[in-house]
Amino acid sequence: MNDLSEELRLPVACPSCGSHLFRASQVHNPDDKVFCASCKRYLCLYSEAKELLRLGPGDEREALIEHVVNRPAK
Ligand SMILES: [Zn+2]
Repeated sequence: MNDLSEELRLPVACPSCGSHLFRASQVHNPDDKVFCASCKRYLCLYSEAKELLRLGPGDEREALIEHVVNRPAK
């Protein structure tokens, strides 16, 4: 097993399957991609995931959630 990723629990539901569990590389580069742990859909960049975790519940976080879930999957 050569798994260099870690799980992240984010306040965002995956647009495809509704999961809140995501996976990111352990390297933690700001432009690393964060994927859904269940369906592997691309969600956002690691820097955006960090921002989601940093922001408490509120308008600012809601706006960022809207931004990432409405972006087309890559
Ligand atoms: Zn998913």
